[in-house]
Formats: sequence, structure tokens, C-alpha cells
Amino acid sequence: MDLGISGKRAVVCAASKGLGRGCAMALAEAGVNLVINARGAEALEETAQAIRDAHGVEVTAVAADITTEEGRAKVLEAAGEADILVNNAGGPPPGMWQDWDREDFIKALDGNMLAPIAMIQALVPAMMDRGWGRVVNITSQSVKAPIPVLGLSNAARAGLTGFVAGTSRQVAGSGVTINNLLPGIHATDRAVSLDKGVADQQGITPEEAKAQRCKSIPAGRYGTAEEFGAACAFLCSGHAGFIVGQNLLLDGGGVNSTL
Ligand code: NAP
Repeated sequence: MDLGISGKRAVVCAASKGLGRGCAMALAEAGVNLVINARGAEALEETAQAIRDAHGVEVTAVAADITTEEGRAKVLEAAGEADILVNNAGGPPPGMWQDWDREDFIKALDGNMLAPIAMIQALVPAMMDRGWGRVVNITSQSVKAPIPVLGLSNAARAGLTGFVAGTSRQVAGSGVTINNLLPGIHATDRAVSLDKGVADQQGITPEEAKAQRCKSIPAGRYGTAEEFGAACAFLCSGHAGFIVGQNLLLDGGGVNSTL
């Protein structure tokens, strides 16, 4: 399917690895020129080159921390007038509800709520002026079904979800859509570190932890960054202009709910 976005320009945050990289690769496959970001310059440049080699689009790599104002300023300077924004950042660490203090919450809010909101505020006005734009936020299945040890993530992402629910309706009339993609367990570095956390907690091996977690997913496996990227590219496509303010689960059926 021609996604109808060839030649457009996208900013994909936190994209040197994992789900962000999957989104960047899928957008590039659709002919979109990219600004990609992550903190570590080496992995970021490797990903930028892999995308250029695979799809021949322009890729600008900006090594910066997207959760800081200075980091966002660098990304925004390179972005210019972007048509597409994919918001992403690392997830907060697991822990216990009684241990988190104000600083832990502020850090989680900065990463998973306030940074994506700041990027939306910076880029969406020009999209509205041009009458076309797409924003996809990578959030988590924990928005629909809480993961108790990820309370910081549950809280911060719920805040972003509330912001998007209202704002997406305010900007839709100008041709800009904002939606959230909710990953269940995907085979990325993040999943490997969560497998290790489960293994340490239960005194089992990471492989046993993975097998145990796979059993909790009706599809019987972890998702892939490629599948995730394809869903993101569709939401960013010319065909998705009527999809507004939605929270789309990609979880192999892991969240057991009717709606
Ligand atoms: P990942 O494989 O660990 O990749 C994270 C990417 O984000 C890397 O490129 C990393 O590069 C970059 N990054 C992290 N913090 C950043 C920051 N402050 N500024 C800029 N770039 C940053 O993680 P993932 O699995 O793709 O997860 C992506 C998001 O989805 C996370 O928020 C995660 O919590 C959420 N999620 C993932 C899963 C899953 O199963 N994978 C499930 C639910 C939710 P640098 O470290 O070099 O910056």
C-alpha cells in the first residue's frame, strides 16, 4: 500500500534502538525524510546509516536527551517544519509504590508526559498552519491495564493520555491527528531488562522469565519492532486522517478486555 507520505519530514524521538527505531525504519520505507534522536551518538549514527542504506532517504541524527529543554531545542532546530512527530523516550524503572519520592515522579513525568507534550506544543502549530500533520506517541499497555511494579510509568503515561484525549480533538479540524500506540511486550532491550528483573525477583533464569511472560500473551510471543513500526507508519499515513485521539494496543492480545 502506498502510504501517501513520500517526501514528508518526520521527527522520531528516542530512535536508535527498539520501537523508536522500528518506527523510523517504517517511515523511511514509506519515503519519509527523518530527524532521529537518542542520547548515545554511536548507536544513533549506526541506525541513521542503516536507514539511509536501506531506504535512501535523508536522515539527520541528533544526539541529545529528549527529556531536557536543551536536548529538545537541538532536535527542534534540526527538525525545522516537520510534518510527522513520533514521541518516545526510555521508560521509568520498576520499583515499589512506597519507595518513590517526588524526584522519581518528576523524572518520570519529564520523560513520559512533559517531553512529548513540549514536542507537540513546538511542532503542531506549524502543522496546523499547513493543514496536515501526524503525531504518534509511544506509550504503554500500562495505560489500559496497570503493571504494578511500573507505577511511575502507569502514572506519567496516564497524564499524557489525558492530554492527548482533549488536544487531539482541538487540532483535528486543522488536518492534524494525534494518537497513541500502546506496546505490550516487544523484543527490545527494554524487554530484556524487564525479563532480567522478573528473573532476579523469582530466582529463575532470564530465559525462564521470558517463557513465563510469553505464556501471558495469547499470541504466544513478544512483538517485534518491525510490526510496531508498520502500525506507526500507517497512523502517520495519508489514509489515517480520520483516526483521532485513539489508544491502539499492540500487545498480542495480552490485555484481556472487550474494549
Ligand atoms: P529500548 O529498546 O531500550 O530503546 C530505547 C531507545 O530510546 C534507545 O534508542 C535509547 O537510546 C533512547 N532513549 C532512551 N532515553 C532517551 C532520552 N532521554 N532521550 C533520547 N533518547 C532516549 O526501549 P523500547 O523497548 O524501544 O521502548 C520504547 C518505549 O516504549 C519506552 O518508553 C518503553 O518503556 C515503552 N514500552 C516498551 C515495551 C517493550 O516491551 N519493549 C512495552 C511497553 C512500553 P539512548 O539510551 O542512547 O538514549
